[in-house]
Amino acid sequence: MSNFYQALENSFTTNLSGDALRLADGTVWRYQHLLERVNDIARTLVAEGLQPTDRLVVQVEKSAENLALYLACLKVGGVYVPLNTAYTEAEVDYFINDAQPALFIGQSVRTDVQTFTMDEGGQGTLLERVAAHSGNPVPATVARQPDDMAAILYTSGTTGRSKGAMLSHANLASNAHSLSTCWGWQKDDVLLHALPIFHVHGLFIASHCALLNATPMIFLPKFDAAQVLQLLPQASVLMGVPTFYTRLLQQAGLNHASVASIRVFICGSAPLTEQTFNAWEAATGQRILERYGMSETIINTTNPLVGERMAGTVGFALPAQELRIADGDGVPVQNGEIGTIEVRGPNVFQGYWQMPEKTAEEIRDDGFFITGDLGTQDAEGRLSIVGRAKDLVISGGYNVYPKEIEGFIDKIPGVVESAVIGVPHADFGEAVVAVIVPSAEHVDIATIHSHLADSLARFKQPKTVVNVDALPRNTMGKVQKNILRDQYAGLFSGN
Ligand code: AMP
Repeated sequence: MSNFYQALENSFTTNLSGDALRLADGTVWRYQHLLERVNDIARTLVAEGLQPTDRLVVQVEKSAENLALYLACLKVGGVYVPLNTAYTEAEVDYFINDAQPALFIGQSVRTDVQTFTMDEGGQGTLLERVAAHSGNPVPATVARQPDDMAAILYTSGTTGRSKGAMLSHANLASNAHSLSTCWGWQKDDVLLHALPIFHVHGLFIASHCALLNATPMIFLPKFDAAQVLQLLPQASVLMGVPTFYTRLLQQAGLNHASVASIRVFICGSAPLTEQTFNAWEAATGQRILERYGMSETIINTTNPLVGERMAGTVGFALPAQELRIADGDGVPVQNGEIGTIEVRGPNVFQGYWQMPEKTAEEIRDDGFFITGDLGTQDAEGRLSIVGRAKDLVISGGYNVYPKEIEGFIDKIPGVVESAVIGVPHADFGEAVVAVIVPSAEHVDIATIHSHLADSLARFKQPKTVVNVDALPRNTMGKVQKNILRDQYAGLFSGN
């Protein structure tokens, strides 16, 4: 039986009287209750016509019921397709049209697909259907093959059409088991879960570790720094994006005592700066464990639980997974050189939904997936990410890696954070532009040049600087450089 839900159920039913979800309003779901809700929703999905391999598109606010819905979908052999709650109706149109679901659980009723809203009470809600079908038998968990699809995660798609990454039951299972071991999950762990569950981080990486070990999650609808700080003493693991850590650092109460119960702080989905890593250690005495993953592969690499966690690096490939830094043809480069990060292993997805050409472009014949991230590996195999390939700036024929420059700019007094982009330039092809969030006074280009003169070659230094109040970020804390590039595309159009 390769249905990953069965592995989770086998584990958490060993602790039915234990807490599964501790909710913000004080309600607690024991594992017994979670199991019952999964069964209730599973019988409802079947009764409403969801067949194995059918897609279930879901766009709802995070809740305990939402997690049970995900598990129920796996149980009945459906393919779970979560959507960011921020997507507009026009965006949802695209996903519905692309995924062709049998059922949509969303925020508003659609006419092109059978739809239920989630909310309690009233006609047409999933929970009302659950009550209506309560007399039906609980369906058995549907047998699945390891490569059968369990979920489609649409990538954030900053350029072109959003692609649906197809993840199999074996993809989910292998990564969940690996992470549980690598991060030393313990029977008394309590996960503070403040991530959204429409994304790989909160849905798979965080939840699976807790469920597979039948341990509790403090399950918050969203991240609120003051609330998380207050709840830290009740938890032993926090998983977050870098923004969680930068916001917590602004809380007056963050100190060694406030994190005394935490066994490990884990961070990923976007780059953690050295400054944040160091500031966190100074404030709490703990080193954040940074790891690197993506929708297509779940987790690729992690810093060690035991051993040195190094700022600016994302650690080693998980056991049974491979990593190589390659040139454009997939040929490994020398240690220390920058190249494209390629990965292979049981975590690598099955391809893009209904995009065989895209799949063929990004998964090589030898099974390595071209991640689109650029990085370097040291002699021990430790990976450092230098940026997304599409964010690389080529100025005057030279490659400029934004992260290197951002690292120097972020250290300049008066700079809170920065994003380096390339914009069209008649002479150079692209010109390096620094977009800066200043702490008070605007930072000018002369100041930047004076600080970078000794550290960076002239061609890497920004040609101009733009001061902004905040960088555009998506819900996972990633800086949306495509927006900046569009916004400042005309900066040098007079040249
Ligand atoms: P997503 O599919 O939305 O999870 O986005 C995956 C992308 O996030 C990766 O390809 C990386 O570019 C980025 N990412 C994830 N973790 C890290 C990390 N620790 N450091 C830098 N970038 C990261």
